[in-house]
Amino acid sequence: MTDSPVSPTIPLDADGVHHGFLRLPHSRDDSAWGSVMVPITVIANGEGPCALLTGGNHGDEYEGPIALQNLATTLKPEQIAGRVILLPMMNLPAFAVGRRCSPIDGGNMNRSFPGRPDGTVTQKIAHFIATRLVPMADIVLDYHSGGRTLDFLPFAAAHFLPDKTQESACMAAMEAFNAPYSVRMLEIDNVGMFDTEVETQGKTFVTTELGGAGTATARSVAIASNGARNLLIHAGILDGEPTAERSVMLDMPDERCFVFSERPAMIEPLCDLGAEVTAGQPIARLWNTDRSGVAPDVCHARLDGILTARHVPGLLQMGDCIAVVAQRA
Ligand code: CA
Repeated sequence: MTDSPVSPTIPLDADGVHHGFLRLPHSRDDSAWGSVMVPITVIANGEGPCALLTGGNHGDEYEGPIALQNLATTLKPEQIAGRVILLPMMNLPAFAVGRRCSPIDGGNMNRSFPGRPDGTVTQKIAHFIATRLVPMADIVLDYHSGGRTLDFLPFAAAHFLPDKTQESACMAAMEAFNAPYSVRMLEIDNVGMFDTEVETQGKTFVTTELGGAGTATARSVAIASNGARNLLIHAGILDGEPTAERSVMLDMPDERCFVFSERPAMIEPLCDLGAEVTAGQPIARLWNTDRSGVAPDVCHARLDGILTARHVPGLLQMGDCIAVVAQRA
């Protein structure tokens, strides 16, 4: 393997506050010797644990970028012991155009790990993060939301893992984040995910889904900001009292949680996020978009639980995720 073409413009190992970029040369029509500049902030104070907090893995999700921009401007080195690395807009090219995937190469960063130093722009950024930043970290938090095509109940999540010691460290960190909901997940599509890379390196990993529909709310941003603070306290990096509300525990044990569309349609929701549903209960009706007078298809929950995610906007394509139902733990 060749070395990474990415170079940080700030030291990653110095004490104090450093704001800069991961600079990746990117020669193109409008900039012959141009670069992709991924913002990074490192806040460090002596010996202690290292947390890597990331947002904008998907470029149309905003709670993470907002919470991390806020943290980058307010967290002081004297408040912490150890190191906090902030990447508010991990897939900067995607974030810059408000899209899930990069407009440069179509790259979905969360399917691009462990990346390649000689690959696409998205793979090169992923490779630097995987080989340079993740190894420095003891704990990693990657913020997600639903983006433009899903909306979620606000939750933090950790995965069922083969290593049960690591799994319990991840579950404890998820509980520490203390979102309104906490979800224990079996990942259905984990190849190339940042989650998988971080977990494979043996680190403690927490992810989130804090809202969606291509925007953020005051409530979802508050959850994101409180969660980061709670997690840094849990990691022993920040002093203070975590927020005290109790999180509702949910499980996503298998593919029965997911309802997928087998046709294009206009979706009529029959229940909203947070609704209690039972197996077999109708949760949405799918209407034709090109003729009147045809009865709708009905979609059903496949297990008892809580409606945890739903499709947005109003039109579905074949194969879209219509809904997610998670079980009460
Ligand atoms: Ca996402």
